[in-house]
Amino acid sequence: MNCELCGLGDKRFCRADIEGSVMTVCSECAKNGKIISELNPEPKKSIATPADDELRLDFSKIIVEAMKEEKTSVEDLARITRNSPADIKKIINGKLIPTMELSKRLERALKINLFYT
Ligand SMILES: [Zn+2]
Repeated sequence: MNCELCGLGDKRFCRADIEGSVMTVCSECAKNGKIISELNPEPKKSIATPADDELRLDFSKIIVEAMKEEKTSVEDLARITRNSPADIKKIINGKLIPTMELSKRLERALKINLFYT
């Protein structure tokens, strides 16, 4: 938000009557007129940006699709990643979140990317 009078951004803004016209101005310029109402500073946009090493939420879907593509069975994947087929099944069903190390092995085994980059 910028002041309609001086064009500068400021921490605080108000609606003020400046020589007969209502404007959104900074607290400095508001001194030249009559303050009608105070405005709160713009809320900071909080966009949740996942960290680089954060596992993708759809990791199980990515794995399942890659397994189809690579024609890799649960048993194959278990052997390649040195894990139990039961654990691999749980991961595929989204019931188990793979550790960082296992995720990296899955990535290598299936040529996929399981992390947000
Ligand atoms: Zn101003």
